[in-house]
Amino acid sequence: MSIKFVGGAPVLPKHRLSCHCGALVFEVDLPDGIVNPRHCDCSICRRKGAVVASVPLSGIRLLQGQEHLRQYQFNTGVARHYFCGVCGIYTHHQRRSFPDQYGYNVGCLEGINPFLLGDVPVSDGVNHPADRRS
Ligand SMILES: [Zn+2]
Repeated sequence: MSIKFVGGAPVLPKHRLSCHCGALVFEVDLPDGIVNPRHCDCSICRRKGAVVASVPLSGIRLLQGQEHLRQYQFNTGVARHYFCGVCGIYTHHQRRSFPDQYGYNVGCLEGINPFLLGDVPVSDGVNHPADRRS
């Protein structure tokens, strides 16, 4: 699923993504729009409740706010969750299931209302593939 307009607002090929207070500003490459938006029900995402979508690691660039960028790791320490040290808003994370991708907070895309996406599927983060023992 690839979305180029959300409630009439265009998703730009290079879209700005920012935290709430504006300390962190990123540029995100979205040539195909918002790809595969979802909720995740893992222990951290269920608390955040954010709609996330994915980009390659090279697809997010920090334009300003390096000194306010904070990182949180837990459990296996593979995934890196980034947030603003001033306002606390989650902006993006390095994915554990696909470490060559970032998940980003669709609600941080400037001018995009994630609640206009309609039904967003829930991905099964509780039963993470990396936790399965076969
Ligand atoms: Zn902030």
